[in-house]
Amino acid sequence: MRRNAGEAEFLQAVREVLESLGRVVAKRPDYLDKALISRICEPERQIIFRVPWMDDDNQVQINRGFRVQFNSAMGPYKGGLRFHPSVNVGIIKFLGFEQTFKNALTGLPIGGGKGGSDFDPKGRSNAEVMRFCQSFMTELYRHLGEYTDVPAGDIGVGAREIGYLFGQYKRLTNRYEAGVLTGKGLFYGGSLARKEATGYGNTYFTRAMLQTGGDDFDGKDVIVSGAGNVAIYTVEKVQEFGGRVIACSDSSGYVVDNDGLDLSLLKEIKEVRRGRMAEYARLKGDQSGAYFVKSGAGVIWDVPCQVAMPSATQNELTGKDARKLIKNGVVAVGEGANMPCTPEAIRMFQQAGVKFGPGKAANAGGVATSALEMQQNASRDRWTFEKTETRLAEIMSDIHDSCYETAEEYGVPGDYVAGANIAGFVRVAEAMLAFGVI
Ligand code: NDP
Repeated sequence: MRRNAGEAEFLQAVREVLESLGRVVAKRPDYLDKALISRICEPERQIIFRVPWMDDDNQVQINRGFRVQFNSAMGPYKGGLRFHPSVNVGIIKFLGFEQTFKNALTGLPIGGGKGGSDFDPKGRSNAEVMRFCQSFMTELYRHLGEYTDVPAGDIGVGAREIGYLFGQYKRLTNRYEAGVLTGKGLFYGGSLARKEATGYGNTYFTRAMLQTGGDDFDGKDVIVSGAGNVAIYTVEKVQEFGGRVIACSDSSGYVVDNDGLDLSLLKEIKEVRRGRMAEYARLKGDQSGAYFVKSGAGVIWDVPCQVAMPSATQNELTGKDARKLIKNGVVAVGEGANMPCTPEAIRMFQQAGVKFGPGKAANAGGVATSALEMQQNASRDRWTFEKTETRLAEIMSDIHDSCYETAEEYGVPGDYVAGANIAGFVRVAEAMLAFGVI
């Protein structure tokens, strides 16, 4: 652990998985042989590089780029790129570690990786974002390939950024290698339903948890934090399932709309204008009752709800927030973001009997659909939205059942955290044992 000093998020993610493994090694002591667990916790490769680029004022800017190729036991490294000023090696390592088990849970042949940069696309022109992406790919391309490492989007990396990255990869390699990036635009090899997949997937997973108690979204008040890719399509699917989403947020604050969020207005603000959350209440009008609470003046989890779906960023829901949510009657929490709930919050939810779906299972729909995009690229095919969503729903149902059944098998019924950690770990561990010491 000493070699990971200062990497708080990475240590948090590793600790959570290791805490689940006592029951596994009691049954399978051979997992302790040949330093298997230590090897799983160590990335296969970490690449850190300089990203120089020119801003619109002809000033040279320098950012730092990262790609952590964590584990390729199950297939080529697969995981998103995050562009956000908070990015550092510890954050990328935690995301790559989580991704390894998440990808194993999908049952698809994909290993785990993650990357990104401390570049902040907010407030940058399209031309600046393009120049940054081109410079970023000018180093990264040599480490990628459809059989080697296949990045996708994450915070700050959407269709625009993937387009610039793909264009530069194609130019540098002189290869139209569609399967080297996922989350591509629909005109050049992207998959229908990929954009929707993480939010839809978390909604399917959370509904499956509710259904184990004979319950559903129907008529429930739901809060979805964030207002990005994952959040928007969570709102869409929850509404389709009859839930009433009453609040969402961005880093400037949160909006509450007790009539249920107006999804087309939310999409207009976030996907078309790239605007801020305060605009929602203003555009909805004073008569509507919708209101905005500035960041610092309160947190979104103050708002009473029955289902909470944190979909912004890591450690955004603390023990204090969990206490409030439990007091207000929350019955289920599905993590759309990666590690959005602190360990204390998770403990409190589980002790209170709240159904808790950890991100590495609940938000696996995005990467699963990325693997479906790779399948379509490899077979030069293009599936309909319905076919892709049907496959996504099956995969989410399988992930849910696998976590649920693994938790039962290991004597912790209803503990989806242990179920996900154990089921994901066992798949990776078995492959690594087969390969010998590598
Ligand atoms: P986006 O960039 O599309 O949206 C992120 C949203 O979260 C924005 O509304 C952003 O607000 C908010 N946010 C980000 N950082 C912070 C912060 N530090 N404090 C408060 N709000 C913040 O990203 P995604 O929707 O793609 O990703 C959201 C989460 O889901 C991440 O944890 C990501 O790792 C995870 N995830 C994403 C997948 C995908 O397919 N996209 C797949 C699986 C997991 P603002 O714009 O103001 O910064």
